[in-house]
This record gives sequence, structure tokens and C-alpha cells, in this order.
Amino acid sequence: MTNIGPSISESFTLAEFEDARKLFAGPINFVKGVTEIKNLPAPNLTETCFAGRSNVGKSTLINAISGRKALARSSNTPGRTQEINYFAVGDKHLIADLPGYGYAKAPIQKVIKWQDLIQLYLQRRTNLRRVFLLIDGRHGIKDVDVEMMQLLDSVAVTFQVVMTKVDKSKGDQFDEVLKLSVRKIEKHPTAYPIILRTSSKTKAGIKDLQTTIYKLML
Ligand code: GDP
Repeated sequence: MTNIGPSISESFTLAEFEDARKLFAGPINFVKGVTEIKNLPAPNLTETCFAGRSNVGKSTLINAISGRKALARSSNTPGRTQEINYFAVGDKHLIADLPGYGYAKAPIQKVIKWQDLIQLYLQRRTNLRRVFLLIDGRHGIKDVDVEMMQLLDSVAVTFQVVMTKVDKSKGDQFDEVLKLSVRKIEKHPTAYPIILRTSSKTKAGIKDLQTTIYKLML
């Protein structure tokens, strides 16, 4: 992987941006919460999924790309059920919101259940096109994120790192986080070599994420 780098970004055409905008301006609905692998929706639509540490900004980002305020609910409430929440983008695409990981006070039983569910999900989901792995732009990649990347490598599922909350980072500090992140990502064969940078607050990068998903459906 030689073309990975902090300044690399994907180029989309105006038509692709516009098609993606239309898609996400259409209906997006909650489908169901899944706690057991046998209850996953039928894999007959393309699918992308969102993963990340608790509090990384995952629900806020899913709400931002769907233009809704409260579609996805925050996962950082202690004791909340560990479920994969499914959303349908029109009748064309599924978005799976994985339960956040790395919550310091999570009981061990819950962590084990999370690992089992996620591992089975990643192994079996044949319609899964890409995992968006969310990383807080201020903190960068932590050990638990590396563990997630190793799991993704082991099941050969492509993941793309999405930096979140970039509005909270100062320029130099963020450049450093980005450089370090690139070094860590380069070690993973299943990493997609372009890092998305987003802010649900300023909406930076939201169109790029929508268009990335749109192109994965084609
Ligand atoms: P989750 O646990 O990953 O679903 O995280 P949430 O989406 O609930 O976000 C955690 C906290 O970060 C909340 O207080 C959000 O308001 C805040 N947050 C999320 N995204 C952004 C962002 O892009 N910019 C800023 N400034 N705050 C954010």
C-alpha cells in the first residue's frame, strides 16, 4: 500500500455527489436492533457498517449523513443493550450501527458477548461492502482500535478510517494525529488507503462519506 497519506482524498464527480445527496435526502428508516446473529436482516441489499469506541461520535455521524436529528441513538449510556442497529437507506442499502466498544466500565460478560456478536457478524455478512472505523480526531488510534483492525484483518473485511469531531482539533495537532494514524493503518492489509475527515457539527466531510457509501452500492 504505497498511496496512503494524510493529504490523499477521494475524488468524486459532481454527478456522484448529486446522486448521493438525492439518495440521503430520501427515506432512511430504522429497521431493527439485533442482539443475536440469527436475527440479522436478509443479506439481499448492499451493506456498510459503522464501528468505533463509545463516544467517538458514531450516532451523531449517522444522524448527520441521514440529515435526521435522532435516527441513531447514542451508545455511550452505561447498561444499554449491545445491539447492532440497522437502518435502511431507501430500499437499496443497509447501514449497520455496531455497538460502541472500549467502554471502560463495561462488565467482562458484556465485552465477551460484544466480541462474539461482532466476530460472527463480520465473518458471515457476505453483503458487507466496507466497515467505517471511526476514530476521534483528537485522540487518534488507541489500542482497542488496533484490536478491531486486527479482527477486521482476520476476517478479511475492508475498513476505512473516518476521523470524527475534526472541528475540535487544532491544525498542527490534527496533522500529527493523522500522520500517526497513517503509520498504524499501513500495517493492516484490509485497510482502505484513504482516511475520511468529518465533523457532524460543521458538516465537513459529510458529503464525502455519503458519496463513498453511494459508490459502494453500485
Ligand atoms: P457514540 O457513543 O459514538 O454514538 O457518540 P455520540 O454520537 O453520542 O457523540 C458523543 C459526544 O460527542 C456527544 O456529546 C456529541 O454531541 C459529541 N459529538 C459527536 N460528533 C461531534 C462533532 O462532529 N463535533 C463535536 N464538536 N462534537 C461531536
